[in-house]
Amino acid sequence: MTKPVILTVDDDPAVLAAIERDLRRQYRADYRVIRAGSAAEGLEAARALAARNTPVALFLVDQRMPGMSGTELLREVMKLHPASRRVLLTAYADTEVAIAGINEIALDHYLMKPWDPPEQRLYPVLDDLLAEWRARLRPTFEGIRVLGSQWSPQCFATKEFLSRNRVPYEWVDIDLTAAARALAESLAGDLTHLPVVIFPDGAHLIAPSPVELASKAGLQTHANRPFYDVIVIGGGPAGLANAVYAASEGLRTVLVESHAAGGQAGTSSLIENYLGFPSGITGEDLAQRATAQARRFGAELLTGQEVVSLRREDPYRVVVLAGGAELTGYCVVITTGMSARTLDVPGCQPLQGVGVYYGAAMTEAARYRDKDICVVGGANSAGQGALFFSRYASRVTMLVRAADLQGTMARYLMDRILATQNIDVLFGVEVHEVRGEGSLEAVIVKCADSGEVRTISSSAMFLFIGVRPHTDAFAGVLERDHGGFVITGADIPREHGRPRGWTLERDPFMFETSIPGVFAAGDVRSGANRRVAAAVGEGSAAIHSVHRYLRTV
Ligand SMILES: Cc1cc2nc3c(=O)[nH]c(=O)nc-3n(C[C@H](O)[C@H](O)[C@H](O)COP(=O)(O)OP(=O)(O)OC[C@H]3O[C@@H](n4cnc5c(N)ncnc54)[C@H](O)[C@@H]3O)c2cc1C
Repeated sequence: MTKPVILTVDDDPAVLAAIERDLRRQYRADYRVIRAGSAAEGLEAARALAARNTPVALFLVDQRMPGMSGTELLREVMKLHPASRRVLLTAYADTEVAIAGINEIALDHYLMKPWDPPEQRLYPVLDDLLAEWRARLRPTFEGIRVLGSQWSPQCFATKEFLSRNRVPYEWVDIDLTAAARALAESLAGDLTHLPVVIFPDGAHLIAPSPVELASKAGLQTHANRPFYDVIVIGGGPAGLANAVYAASEGLRTVLVESHAAGGQAGTSSLIENYLGFPSGITGEDLAQRATAQARRFGAELLTGQEVVSLRREDPYRVVVLAGGAELTGYCVVITTGMSARTLDVPGCQPLQGVGVYYGAAMTEAARYRDKDICVVGGANSAGQGALFFSRYASRVTMLVRAADLQGTMARYLMDRILATQNIDVLFGVEVHEVRGEGSLEAVIVKCADSGEVRTISSSAMFLFIGVRPHTDAFAGVLERDHGGFVITGADIPREHGRPRGWTLERDPFMFETSIPGVFAAGDVRSGANRRVAAAVGEGSAAIHSVHRYLRTV
């Protein structure tokens, strides 16, 4: 553990040197003694120590300093280090100020200058105060700290990004901890942009983007090589499988992931139908195993980097990242999958992340312990979500548009839902509106048959209502179907007997898109069977076509 600090502040260099010497002599073994030559310097040091989460055991501060007095300084540092002991160094004339300070700023003691001999007039007092402080000391967290408000969507996104990328962090709610609020305010200026993410070296980021966060948290964000055989876009099961096979077969491979490896599967609480895991595997576990495997074979995994476009510079393919950086290679495999469609009803958008969630936001489950929540949708993912949240919530109400679950949900899930005491299922209803001040309070549903409107009190609503492919970056570049999914192989529309826009003598290989050397696999592919095993299978099999293509360049 980092040594706690004793911070002493005095504008008189001779006095400062003397007090520092005496403090070091007695306390050096257990404390780091830091000195500051002015109140401003002292305040800055206190801020930096709070940012590093370094505990300050004691402030020993001179009363008479220009600009800011000792009592004023202690009032400010108390906000950042409320548990520290506070001692004022005074001259005889300041006694009254010091006595007033005992009430006003909870001053622990005032020391008259000079304090010689320290064995009699300094150490006994400080020993007592430090012993008292130590008795209440709680171990401090030395990793990344996220300071924010529970009700901020950006804070939710940051927490989700870190946890999905398995970066340990401590969440500190500024609405519950005054010292954290003061620290966030002192670092960010105001609290309009949250969270403030503080790193162990004391550096901080305000409302960071995924790539800023990834880079500072030590995840790889930039490619090591100038050129690759295969550039995989998207780190879901299809992309990870592709990267594992590509790298294991000796191809120079880089995978670019905008959020967190694992994709949709990474958000699943339990995948029960994946071959070889009879009691199921969590999406997080599967993602972690697959990333470790891809890395072991030498694939590079870039995290927090979004691909925004793709271009052809024969024989190369160039992938452009959001920040403008480019990756060049022979082949590209698009495995960008899809995500949940969002609900466009009054009140929904402002509550996203603060009661309204798309998919199984597992990080939020504990927050809704013993609360009533809704799950919207009637497919397998909604069923899994309802079962997962029923372990925390007091009541889960499933809102299903269809008249039953037949044909949309697997039999085993349906049976389990119907057998779970705290899950209710409402059929034939649509979400009409959501309400809440700062967080979700009620979901208003409309009955499809009768038009009856009903209000359901709910602290959270988890939506599983359909999907949207992640293919905006490729619009106008390659053939997509009416839903935006990428068309591959024999399905590419033909003109005069040839695939549209295709100039080669041969037909497109399996998984090849309308651009030679660019492949698509997994959920993003038109006609794909949207399952983990199918995505893994397609990602793996696409490498066969990649090899065939590489023999032609
Ligand atoms: C909650 C939930 C539970 C599920 N449970 C099961 C189950 O039990 N069994 C089952 O078989 N299937 C399940 N599925 C379906 C399964 O997870 C998907 O079929 C599978 O994840 C598809 O894999 P994929 O690699 O094709 O795409 P995805 O998993 O969607 O991964 C695509 C990845 O690409 C990234 N990406 C997107 N655009 C870009 C870009 N421009 N630049 C960089 N990266 C980008 C995304 O961030 C994402 O990580 C579930 C899905 C969900 C949502």
